Amino acid sequence: MKKIIVAIDGFSSCGKSTIAKALAKHAGYRYVDTGAMYRSVALYTIENKPAEMAVEPFLEQHIGELNIDFSVQPDGSQHTLLNGRDVEALIRTLEVGNMASQVSTIGFVRRAMVAQQQAMGREGGIVMDGRDIGTVVFPNAELKLFLTASPEIRAERRFKELEAKGEHPVMEEVLADVNDRDYRDTHRAESPMHQTEDAVVVDNSYMTPAEQMDYVIRVFEERIKEQK
Ligand code: C5P
Repeated sequence: MKKIIVAIDGFSSCGKSTIAKALAKHAGYRYVDTGAMYRSVALYTIENKPAEMAVEPFLEQHIGELNIDFSVQPDGSQHTLLNGRDVEALIRTLEVGNMASQVSTIGFVRRAMVAQQQAMGREGGIVMDGRDIGTVVFPNAELKLFLTASPEIRAERRFKELEAKGEHPVMEEVLADVNDRDYRDTHRAESPMHQTEDAVVVDNSYMTPAEQMDYVIRVFEERIKEQK
């Protein structure tokens, strides 16, 4: 059976990675979290950039030194490796998310990440999630999903995630952050996020995770049957 490419795009805190991971497991495909790649560039910047230097010139000098990879844990989960170091927990903070949103507006950063992502998907059999997967990374993906949910519902989900990690979020700030990120993701000059005509739109505002999963698996199985 042909192994296809599944491109999943959508707003932040939409549950893209949950769906992508579950679909990859169902299909026996590799899962690639491209947000984790931009987050790793962000962490590297936060940790290494001299205070007096701007982000862009710093990354211009150092982007070539960044090697981002993923390792599969004994429980099947994936951890992000930055130059061989496990940074999975460090990249999931609000601070790193905000810096990721900034570094991802830089053209040469995107080109470096996209080249790595395209290499990972060359053989098919991949589920990749992000903002530009169906538009730039794999415009010919056999299945494109575009996930969305209302900003308030996404802020509520993000709030709970941060609390569960021991952070002390303020709801107004989390919602403002969701709105800011949406704006930056859809208005940046480089690869702004947009829904393509051939994408299947999944608005999960009022769907349970199980309902969403059933729906996505059905769409995937139908698409697989259509392949020659
Ligand atoms: O999805 P996640 O929140 O982990 O992504 C972190 C940041 O990286 C996002 O705010 C988004 O701006 C950026 N990103 C991107 N293109 C991707 C994946 C993520 O610009 N393919």
